[in-house]
Parts: sequence; structure tokens; C-alpha cells
Amino acid sequence: MPFDLSSVLAAREAAGLKRQRICLDSGQGREIWVEGQAYLNFSGNDYLGAASQPEILQAWRAGLERWGAGSGASPLVTGYSQPHARLEAQLCDWLGVEAALLFSTGFAANQAVLKALLGKEHLQWQDRLNHASLQEAGAASPAPMKRFAHNDMAHLARLLAPKRGLIISEGVFSMDGDQAPLSELVALSQASGNWLMIDDAHGLGVLGAAGRGTLAAQGMRANQVQILMGTFGKALGCAGAFVAGSRELVDYLANFAREYVYSTHLPPAQAEAISAAIAWVQQADGAREQLQAHIALFRQGAAQLGLRLGDSQTAIQPLLVGESEAALILAQRLRQRGVWVTAIRPPTVPAGQARLRLTLTAAHRPEDIARLLSALAEATA
Ligand code: PMP
Repeated sequence: MPFDLSSVLAAREAAGLKRQRICLDSGQGREIWVEGQAYLNFSGNDYLGAASQPEILQAWRAGLERWGAGSGASPLVTGYSQPHARLEAQLCDWLGVEAALLFSTGFAANQAVLKALLGKEHLQWQDRLNHASLQEAGAASPAPMKRFAHNDMAHLARLLAPKRGLIISEGVFSMDGDQAPLSELVALSQASGNWLMIDDAHGLGVLGAAGRGTLAAQGMRANQVQILMGTFGKALGCAGAFVAGSRELVDYLANFAREYVYSTHLPPAQAEAISAAIAWVQQADGAREQLQAHIALFRQGAAQLGLRLGDSQTAIQPLLVGESEAALILAQRLRQRGVWVTAIRPPTVPAGQARLRLTLTAAHRPEDIARLLSALAEATA
């Protein structure tokens, strides 16, 4: 046998790291059903409850009627249509960028940018806690990667070389929920003559005026970074992603990004749904306020219980546990109490930093947060 899968899987199981896929019977958002049981869901990324908004669902249905189920081709063939072009223009208006390009997933968007852009003559500087899609794309590119300590601008400054490449960070970090110091990153990129890429998968829609994201929340404009990446699968409630920047950047990626050129474009109906999702998110101040209230309620209750939370003011609230086994046991105890929370273990997070990644949404109710807190009190007693 050329591949010894069983012993690799057995070793992973022995290390307590084997993943099991969970198949939902039904539900989405605040409540899910698994194997006939209902659970309050604190694991999703639908931070504003967009995934169930009637106008977004209706736009998807109307798009299906008008455009059919799929795009039928890659974008440079015949897969690029009016709904995609409208969505790109809408992103430009919303975020104040010159141009945008659509991808089927954020993972593909990150691969596309880093692999198309970085050559062996370049350098890349990545925050140590960047998402796997950034780290893997960077590793697959020929440019040497320098990883700086999480949000440590002094460390980054020491590693930087002038005019050599790309600094890459997230806006809101996916497993920790904290924000990057964006004005310092912009200043360092400007002073060193390097480009800056921000992956705002978890800030877009949630933070800033009209949900414009982490840059807006920190008083910056999107065109202060050369590359902005965002996803539609989180606060926008759909799926897919975009890369935004100059017209030249987008032209370059449309020519050289293999994940763009050689992949079936996302369905036009999905683009219509995403357009409706952006329109909904832009005016969703009420949902953003509700989410903030839930975050405050949770953090206050968790502090009273003496729980070890991360330094996060966003929807992502890590409960730091340490060892993988302990995180799994805690997640199991919460499930026994009707609360669904996912244990996050290495290699997704560094060794010894297993955690429960709790996510709060606007769709939760204050009594859901109270139930979460009382389940946590019992499960950690
Ligand atoms: N970037 C970050 C920071 C993410 O957290 C994720 C997904 N969890 C992605 C990119 C990938 O996006 P997608 O799920 O659309 O592939």
C-alpha cells in the first residue's frame, strides 16, 4: 500500500487530536439539532443572524429563477455575469476601494493572492496567529516567510526589510477574537515601503460604521492597505469571498491567480444573495448593538465565574483551557447541558492552548447567554 492512512489516523487518535465531523439534523444560527437533540449553538460565525434574513433568502431564490443553479464556467470563460459585476461595484461603494474580485471561498482567495503575488525575490511577514489559509499559501509561495509574534509591532519592525514584499495580518483573529493594531501596521508598511494585506473575515459586517470592518472601527480607510480580503460566509451569512484593492491589483489577480482563472465562478444566484446580504448588513446597526450587548453580558458573567477568557471584545470569545483532553471534556459537559461549543485543539491553535471557541451572535437572546453561563458554571465546577 502506498499510503498508510490507518496508522497515521491511529496516531492522531492516540494523541487525542482526531476530528469527528458533526452532521446537523437541522437548524442554523442560535439553535441546532444533532442526533435528535436540540442545542443552543455557540459555535457558528453567522454573527448577525444574516443567514436567515428573509430578504437575503428571497434574493437567492430570485437569482436561481433568473440565472439557474450555477455559473457554468470559470470567470474568464463565461462564468462572470451581471450579478458578479454588480456585487463587485457594491463592495467598492461600501468599503471605499477601487476594485474587487470574487472567489468561491476565503481559503481560495488567500491562496490566490499569496501564490500569484509572491516570488522568490520577495519576503513575507505573517502574524504567528494568521489563519491556516494564509500560512499555507505563504508556505506554498517561493518567498521566505518571517513570522512575527502575535500583534507584536516591535518584533515586526525588527524583521522588516525595505521594499521587499508583503506584511500579512488579520483584522480580527479567528481563534482569539482580538484585533490587530492596524494603524501601526499601516505606518510600518508605509515606512518600510512594503505592502500590507488584511484578512478581515471576522471583522467585516460586525465592526465599524455600516459594518465596514476592522479598519473602519479603528478609524482607518480600506484604501490605506494595498490588499483587503473579506469573506461572505460569516457576518454576511452566505459563502464566498473577495479581494479588494487597486484596479491594477484586481487585473493582475484576474490574470495570474490560478484559483480564480481555473475554477468555476460562484453561482450568480449566490452573488445576488450576497448583494442583498451587504444591503442588509449596512443597515444592521440594531443587530450590531445586540451583539455587543451579548458580548458584554457574557464577559461580565464569565468574569463573575472566574473563567479564563481571552482579551477579546468581539463575537469570538475564547475560553482558555490548556490541554486538548480537558477542552474536549468541557465541551462534552456543555453538550450534556444542551449547549453546543466547539473545542479547538492543536494544530489549529498552538500546543497547550486548547480552548473552547465560543461565538456569540445577534440572534441569541439574553436568556441564551444566561443558559450558557449557568452551563459553564456547572461544567467547570
Ligand atoms: N481567513 C480567516 C481569518 C478565516 O477564519 C477563514 C475561515 N474560517 C478563512 C480565511 C477562510 O474563509 P472561507 O471559510 O470562506 O474559506
